[in-house]
Amino acid sequence: MEAHAELRDEALARLAACTELAELRSVEKDYLGPEGAIGALLASIPSLPKEERPKVGAAANRLKKELEAGLDKARGELETARVAAERAGGDFDPSLPPRRAARGSLHPLTKVRREVERIFSSMGYDIADGPEVELDYYNFQALNIPVDHPSREMQDTFYCDEEHHLVMRTQTSPVQIRVMEQRQPPFRLIAPGRVFRNEEQDATHNHTFHQVEGLVVGEGIQVGHLTGTLKGFLAELFQRQVQVRLRPGYFPFVEPGFELDVACPFCDEKGGTCRVCKGVGWVEFCGCGLVHPEVLAAGFGGRDDVDLDKLTGFAFGFGLDRLVMLRYGLDDIRNLMGGDLRFLEQF
Ligand SMILES: [Zn+2]
Repeated sequence: MEAHAELRDEALARLAACTELAELRSVEKDYLGPEGAIGALLASIPSLPKEERPKVGAAANRLKKELEAGLDKARGELETARVAAERAGGDFDPSLPPRRAARGSLHPLTKVRREVERIFSSMGYDIADGPEVELDYYNFQALNIPVDHPSREMQDTFYCDEEHHLVMRTQTSPVQIRVMEQRQPPFRLIAPGRVFRNEEQDATHNHTFHQVEGLVVGEGIQVGHLTGTLKGFLAELFQRQVQVRLRPGYFPFVEPGFELDVACPFCDEKGGTCRVCKGVGWVEFCGCGLVHPEVLAAGFGGRDDVDLDKLTGFAFGFGLDRLVMLRYGLDDIRNLMGGDLRFLEQF
């Protein structure tokens, strides 16, 4: 504990003495970096007497937080002072090269979404969109999920306004109905977007996440078209041939319904047990199936220009966040919506 107190005094004194960003960076490296003093303190814990370990561990973590906050604050202050000095014209030197503007970058979700859109566009798909605050009718009833249907309990819904039957959409599937109401088949489209569920957050669950819905409607559409399409998409995405398999799956808006797995594209990259599929060899990719006749009836019913007896279709929905995590090897979904620039600047 004595060593800790000394370390803290020394670190805070150095922080207080910083007058330039470069100095802050060196303080950060010396204490918080991979070979920094706090790491060394934490690493020394196992060699301490048992009763001291929790105390030292807690103190080291407190110091780490204190230093991080101190560094953030000092950075802000230096930046404010720099801007003020520049405005005052005090140290303006016209012979110096201009300061490089900070460049932003696209969010990883945006990057992968655009790639998905590019691939499906090249396959003749349109991109559709729908509201994030949705009527219960579109989010549930028209998708063959009536008010008393047990599958409503599968999805923990945020209700916005029960009187007006408004919900935060729990899936991108309501776009299916909205498009059917407005378009003349045949058509094919994807609808990427945000969806919301009132669930406990952990490394693989978030209250806000992203889906990509797919819908193809026409005459004579079959399961083979579905698997062929998704196989073609995945091959383009991973830039190699991929195997897929269908397992029976239940979703109220398709019949028959399937879960589609993809042969793990990461298995043979390194030896040992694959981190992504844990050695199983397959990765769950999406729910899919042939559009349920009740859903086609809800979307196209009562129209003279549509012959419901001849119409079939397939639909699929996959998680964009999971695809991003697969693509970049991320293990915590919460980072994607966390807004932490240190995370986002890596992309
Ligand atoms: Zn694998």
